[in-house]
Amino acid sequence: MDKIKMQNPIVEMDGDEMTRVLWKMIKEELVLPFVELNTEYYDLGLRHRDESEDHVTEAAARAVKRHKVAVKCATITPNADRVKEYGLRGMWKSPNGTIRAILDGTVFRAPIIVKGIEPYVKTWKKPITIARHAYGDVYKAAEMKIPGPGRCELVYTDESGKETRELVHEFKGAGVLQGMHNLTRSIESFARCCFNYALDTKQDLWFAAKDTISKKYDHTFKDIFQGIYEAEYEARFKEAGITYFYTLIDDAVARVIKSEGGYIWACKNYDGDVMSDMVATAFGSLAMMTSVLVSPDGNYEYEAAHGTVQRHYYKYLKGEETSTNSVATIFAWSGALRKRGELDGNAALMEFADKLEAATLAVIEEGTMTKDLAMMTTIPNPRVAESGEFIRAIRGKLETT
Ligand code: NAP
Ligand code: MG
Repeated sequence: MDKIKMQNPIVEMDGDEMTRVLWKMIKEELVLPFVELNTEYYDLGLRHRDESEDHVTEAAARAVKRHKVAVKCATITPNADRVKEYGLRGMWKSPNGTIRAILDGTVFRAPIIVKGIEPYVKTWKKPITIARHAYGDVYKAAEMKIPGPGRCELVYTDESGKETRELVHEFKGAGVLQGMHNLTRSIESFARCCFNYALDTKQDLWFAAKDTISKKYDHTFKDIFQGIYEAEYEARFKEAGITYFYTLIDDAVARVIKSEGGYIWACKNYDGDVMSDMVATAFGSLAMMTSVLVSPDGNYEYEAAHGTVQRHYYKYLKGEETSTNSVATIFAWSGALRKRGELDGNAALMEFADKLEAATLAVIEEGTMTKDLAMMTTIPNPRVAESGEFIRAIRGKLETT
């Protein structure tokens, strides 16, 4: 069989622990036998990040700007324990944070739907994609503990030194205070990412915030979305047969639970953090959640939503059997290959991505799955596969279909 050729490379970012083990298996069993793989490889494994003083992470992010498509393995975000464990020279920042800061994007998370893993919400038939704004708000807030009576104000001093003040509260006793911000530029790029992704995936877009209570802050988000929609996207949405609407976050929550799924739900930073955990859990498992960072100038970075599955890795190091779910990582690869195919007009590559996903789901639907899924499936008598066995079963399926 002729291998599928690739005109342009994908940026490949290797990672850590159990997901690094799965990464190698996925490449060897599911990609290299079928595709003449063309990647620009960056080793974001913690040891190499440390050796390069984390320059490799920045280099990888810049490479995404050149090549437009990337696939990333889960990586360790070092904390004090990791600094000791790996004898690190520094407590390097979260690679995802570094990459996001360079690419300036929005993170889209969607569950992988498979027969036999039923959502807890009975009406959900199609995936719900959460689009999370990844800048500002409570994640970049200034906070104070107020010890006793006193006056708290917001003060804006413009470049000429002129002050504008807004009373927050006249404290009669102790309390707490928080000041948060966002940037018009960041909100605009969040909006464009969401509109582009909706067009790309041909799904409706919902955006929800709390503009009735937050008449300036949240209302600005609402207005920016509406303005950009009318000026740049309305006609294209009509043509694609999809809709955009804004609603209050309370109303959105109620509608989501009663919906069938099959749309994108854009959330402010905090709402996205909380709602994506709710949606992932309600769909079944974090190990079945894909994640893609989309930048406003059309760069795509695909990954799994879960981490490096450290506990399984320690078992693996001791030579014990593991049954780690590789589905989200496989879908990160298929997502990147499909996008590469789309940008390059490479139909064979896009078709292969579809086949890889179909083979993965077919193996599960026929009853072979990793332990995490076996514990909750409605399929009777599932076969629990060890990590490598599951991937080899998918290879078998790919070779026979
Ligand atoms: P995690 O790796 O997502 O794993 C948490 C637990 O969830 C696992 O112990 C396992 O439960 C279950 N799980 C997650 N993915 C699974 C899979 N594919 N198959 C089977 N079970 C799975 O999160 P963590 O343990 O909090 O974090 C570990 C490391 O990952 C940390 O160093 C963190 O910095 C990093 N991290 C990276 C990213 C990223 O690169 N995007 C994201 C999150 C975390 P059981 O042990 O009960 O089987
Ligand atoms: Mg969270």
